[in-house]
Amino acid sequence: MLQIGLTGGIGSGKTTIANIFSTLGVAIYDADSAAKNLMNTNLQIRQQLTELFGADTYKEGQLNRAFLSSKVFNNAPLLAELNAITHPITIQDSIDWFNRQQGPYAIKEAALIFESGSNKHLDYTIGVWAEKELRIERVLERGGLDRAAILARMEKQMDESEKMKRCDFVIDNNGEKSVIAQVFELHQTLVNLADR
Ligand code: ADP
Repeated sequence: MLQIGLTGGIGSGKTTIANIFSTLGVAIYDADSAAKNLMNTNLQIRQQLTELFGADTYKEGQLNRAFLSSKVFNNAPLLAELNAITHPITIQDSIDWFNRQQGPYAIKEAALIFESGSNKHLDYTIGVWAEKELRIERVLERGGLDRAAILARMEKQMDESEKMKRCDFVIDNNGEKSVIAQVFELHQTLVNLADR
């Protein structure tokens, strides 16, 4: 079974594209939700985060996200330490998940694939592409974040053209091409590759 990564910047349409693959019966691993869950439930992560950031890291047994974000925001070395604790465990969790799946291929949807080194265990990566301004509009419409917050997140992510260059396949979600048609075509390609 092929292990496929699906990535793209905030608002590119990763979740939307993952949902289309899901309608074709492809299993999807949502890395963002899985990481959130592991940060609450994995004892090794809990212990190491508490050692690094102090007792306020968890409040009533739940990760104190606001506290943690305030600590690592604009502190790259501390963010790197946080990632060094969480990434190996979250990546291993996705590998274990892939090993439990059936079918020609399964997909891990993640904003960070190259940044976390998760691409090393993946057979192929799919990038979802949309222009910056369109991504901002879509995230504003989705709600929950203002323009400044969206831009701050974008700045922290790898440059989109660089990311797309590194992907084996790119889905154009810039509004002109049908994404359903692109997903169907890619599905066929991946089924054929898995069959070899
Ligand atoms: P990501 O998971 O990459 O952050 P989403 O899939 O959540 O992106 O898409 C961001 C927002 O844009 C969502 O509200 C989604 O419904 C909308 N969206 C995504 N692709 C399209 C599209 N092709 N046409 C219209 N809206 C779209």
